[in-house]
Amino acid sequence: MQLTAINSRIETAVDKVSRLKSDVRLIAVSKVQPLERIEAILSAGHRIYGENRVQDAQAKWPDFKSRYPDVDLHLIGPLQTNKVRAALELFDAIHTVDRPKLARAIARVSAELGLRPAIFVQVNTGREPQKAGVMPEDLDAMIAECRDLDLDLRGLMCIPPADEPAAPHFAQLAEMAARHDLAGLSMGMSGDFEEAIAHGATHVRVGSAIFGARVPG
Ligand SMILES: *Cc1c(COP(=O)(O)O)cnc(C)c1O
Repeated sequence: MQLTAINSRIETAVDKVSRLKSDVRLIAVSKVQPLERIEAILSAGHRIYGENRVQDAQAKWPDFKSRYPDVDLHLIGPLQTNKVRAALELFDAIHTVDRPKLARAIARVSAELGLRPAIFVQVNTGREPQKAGVMPEDLDAMIAECRDLDLDLRGLMCIPPADEPAAPHFAQLAEMAARHDLAGLSMGMSGDFEEAIAHGATHVRVGSAIFGARVPG
């Protein structure tokens, strides 16, 4: 199955740069995939998944989580403050924290719910106006805010511009994380996860290469 192929490609990629397989988490991005494809990957033993919309995740993951309690679910899409409660009730990690208001909402609701989600700050490394993420010059303040709020800040996340080579963006994100003493690097998708691993990715987000092309609707 594709999952096995992706895992062996990850192994080859870590070997090449003398890293350990255990340092790279494979997030299987299950957004917009039919339930039976997700069930197949769950049955194969994979436990780390990513979804980009809270509402879509609410429709399928409560049931999967009740049957596979050790599932680790990551939110990789934009989060509105009015969905923070719903998100925290379902997700173990949020990769898309990109503004102080959202960080504060997560801190407040986490405390109320007695949860401590893993947090990644999304950086708009390509400075794309339509894209989420903090601008690089605002990152220092954003990280300071997360630390003041005592969030469980793990690292940084980026989605490079679709029409540019990804490597410079991966390198930039890695440099920013190192400067802030952050170990986590959420970067790399189906088309470029090996390159992301070469640049230090700790969390690769792979969808279509595992599940096949997304079925719309
Ligand atoms: C959809 C998505 C992915 C996975 O994309 P593939 O190209 O299917 O691997 C990764 N990261 C984010 C933020 C996504 O929205």
